Amino acid sequence: MLDTTLDTLALEQAHTSGVYTKRDLQIARGEGAYLFDTAGRRYIDCVGGQGTANLGHAHPAIVAAIQQQAAELISCPELFHNPVRANYQAAICEAAGMNRVFLCNSGAESVEAAIKFARARTRRTGIISTMRGFHGRTFGALSVTWNKSYREPAEPLLPGVNFIPFNNIERLQGALNDTVAAVIVEVVQGEGGVYPAESGYLQAVQELCRANGTLLIVDEVQTGFGRTGSLFAHQQDGITPDLLCLAKSIAGGLPMGAVLIGEQVGELAPSLHSSTFGGNPLACAAALATLDVLQNTDLIEQARQRGATVIEHLRNALPESIVREIRGRGLLIGIELRDKAAPFLRRLQDEGVLVLTAGPTVLRLLPPLVISDADLWDVIAIIERVLTDAV
Ligand SMILES: *Cc1c(COP(=O)(O)O)cnc(C)c1O
Repeated sequence: MLDTTLDTLALEQAHTSGVYTKRDLQIARGEGAYLFDTAGRRYIDCVGGQGTANLGHAHPAIVAAIQQQAAELISCPELFHNPVRANYQAAICEAAGMNRVFLCNSGAESVEAAIKFARARTRRTGIISTMRGFHGRTFGALSVTWNKSYREPAEPLLPGVNFIPFNNIERLQGALNDTVAAVIVEVVQGEGGVYPAESGYLQAVQELCRANGTLLIVDEVQTGFGRTGSLFAHQQDGITPDLLCLAKSIAGGLPMGAVLIGEQVGELAPSLHSSTFGGNPLACAAALATLDVLQNTDLIEQARQRGATVIEHLRNALPESIVREIRGRGLLIGIELRDKAAPFLRRLQDEGVLVLTAGPTVLRLLPPLVISDADLWDVIAIIERVLTDAV
């Protein structure tokens, strides 16, 4: 049983693995775009569960779906058919305009699966990824992740991975050959510093891949589910991925991942891959409810409009002496500073606003799409004040 008299900080410090650096804050509860600490203080949450909370915290439709399904059936491995899973598979394939789906439990797992599928389908082994790209921390996903400090402690990793500059089509052209199974790319590089794909880049990537018999893996683990102003960010770039990796906000905050599979890949061989928890009815029910909310409200269109307005505003409001560049798409917003970003996290927290970084100099905002206009503009005003107070 949960004992609320125990000292959370002391317990975590004694027993945690140590791999996480934590902020001095104990979160107890969430509601919409708010988080509350154990003392009851309210924060506006622009961490958004690191991208898992596009629908905010305790969304009534998600809570109801989870409660109902938990009482019905929580686990059902893919040894058996299940109506909730079947419904979800049909719904997500239709939403993405793709044929088939493999369900798993996290972003890294979806990337692992996509790499295996691409190798199996093409019978090639090479992978091209991008500089600043982030795809997860398990071996395959880590092998295609750029950050050296993440990779080095785990080496040797997958052989045959080649990193090219993002938004540079000539370098891709030079790197492609008949050993390359797949190109993996984000639509907006999230962890790497919030760098959106330039207009026309992904179309050119797709054309080169097709011509070379190489599959295109699009990693929308962070950009999916309305974040950038369309259900999936790549829909704004006029491409159809061969493999589409999803996770984070897929199931209203429950752990879940998916790989959508296009017609270039087709049906895969039995036992090529599997996951015990993958496609469990609890996650599928939450994911079905998530899709339903996104498709039957104007949250996505609002993310597009409000993101554009905020980015435009910040570009005018923040002086060049402090800020190098404002980037983003929809409500995935990066503020690149001239100095380190980390010291501002604490000052913003003291002002009641929680944000992320993306690399050493970028402040990253991932507010729940349900954030009110008043709270969003409060956040912007507080950020302007905290950043300009520093000079
Ligand atoms: C977060 C993220 C991942 C990894 O997801 P996990 O669920 O943490 O394994 C992969 N790709 C992108 C683009 C991400 O943002």
